[in-house]
Amino acid sequence: MTGEGLAGPDTTTGDDSPFWAGAREGRLEFQHCASCGFVRWPAAGVCPECLSRDFAWRPVEPVGTVWSWVVYHRAYSAALRERVPYDVALVELDCGVRLLTRLTGFAGGDDPVGTRVVARFEELGEHGRVPVFAPAEEGTDR
Ligand SMILES: [Zn+2]
Repeated sequence: MTGEGLAGPDTTTGDDSPFWAGAREGRLEFQHCASCGFVRWPAAGVCPECLSRDFAWRPVEPVGTVWSWVVYHRAYSAALRERVPYDVALVELDCGVRLLTRLTGFAGGDDPVGTRVVARFEELGEHGRVPVFAPAEEGTDR
């Protein structure tokens, strides 16, 4: 832990580290069950759908829909201290994963629920590149 308890996610060790490694290279990758194809997030040792222990990490289309949203008035990572307040959303990706993520490119106060969004990758201090989601451009919306 660093920065007065504002360390943010551990992106280099643990089951989810391939997700963060993919993000550093500009990809959204998730653990896919090798048996039934279920996309697991967070990563797990056993598939919650079929109990298989086999999996592979593969990229997904980085698009989805804002499912829920809040405004953070406190920085939960020291790297976000200068960005308060900021929008945080639960984005339902087209692959089925619901990802808690930061939004960018929305006007303050606009309700983004239901908006089609696409991943962008931003440098975030010690965390390196992390995914954030911005409104999808016209023509990329399905
Ligand atoms: Zn499975």
